[in-house]
Amino acid sequence: MYVVYEPKGRAREYSELACNLYRGCTHGCRYCYAPACMRTTSGQWHTQAEPRKDVLKLLEKDASRLQGDPRTILFCFLCDPYQPIERTERLTRQAIEILLKNRLNNQVLTKGCADLILEDLDLLKKANTKLGITLSFVDDAIRQDWEPHASTVADRLNILKEAHKAGIYTWLSLEPVIDPGQALSVIQSAHRDVDFWKVGKLNHMKKQEETVDWAKFLVDAETLLKKLGAKYYIKQDLQAFRAKS
Ligand code: SF4
Repeated sequence: MYVVYEPKGRAREYSELACNLYRGCTHGCRYCYAPACMRTTSGQWHTQAEPRKDVLKLLEKDASRLQGDPRTILFCFLCDPYQPIERTERLTRQAIEILLKNRLNNQVLTKGCADLILEDLDLLKKANTKLGITLSFVDDAIRQDWEPHASTVADRLNILKEAHKAGIYTWLSLEPVIDPGQALSVIQSAHRDVDFWKVGKLNHMKKQEETVDWAKFLVDAETLLKKLGAKYYIKQDLQAFRAKS
C-alpha cells in the first residue's frame, strides 16, 4: 500500500503528490470536505484524530521508491499536519525528516498549532519545505465561527512573518473564500510575508456561495494582488467566473 498518492480534481491544483499522516482532524472546520471524501460523518472525523497505521514505515518505502522524483509531496489534504495530536506524535516532523533524507521536495498546508510550527522552522528551512498557511479571515471571531479549533488569525500571521524572516518559502491558501471583504483584508495584512498566493472560492455550500458576487471578487482580488506585485494562482472554479464577468 502506498501512502504517497496523486491527488485528483481541485486538490491537484495544489500538489501533484500528497500524503495524509493522520486519520481525522480536530480543527472541525465547518466547510471541511474530508468527511465526505472519507465517507464518514463530520462528527466522527472531527472528534478525534489518530496516526494512520504504519504511516511512517510506509512513507519510508514510498520515499525510497520515489527518490529523484522532482514532484512536490504535500502534507496533508484530509487532515492538518500540525493539529494538536502532532504535539505528542510528531509524525509531521518525522515525515519531513524522511523526505529530507531521500532528497524529496515537500510542502505543508496548515492552520495548526503555531508553537509546533515555530519549533520546526529550522527543519523546514533545511528541508526546503514550502510552508502553506490557510487564512480566509482577518476577524478572529469569524474565523472561530468557521474554524473553531484551528489557530487564531494572529498566530497564523505571526507564523508567516517568522517563517519569511527565516528564509522559508511561504504560500498562503486563500481558500475557501467565504467573505470577500475578509479575504481582501487577508491580502492586505499578509502580503509582505507571502511568496505565493492560491485563491479559491467556497464550494459545496450553495446557500452561502450564492451570497457572494464571485465575478466581482475575482476582479477585486486580482487588482489588489497585482497592485502589490504578488505572485498568485486563481483556482479553476473561481477562474470560471472570469468568462461571465
Ligand atoms: S483543517 Fe482541513 S481537514 Fe482539518 S477540519 Fe479543517 S478543512 Fe477539515
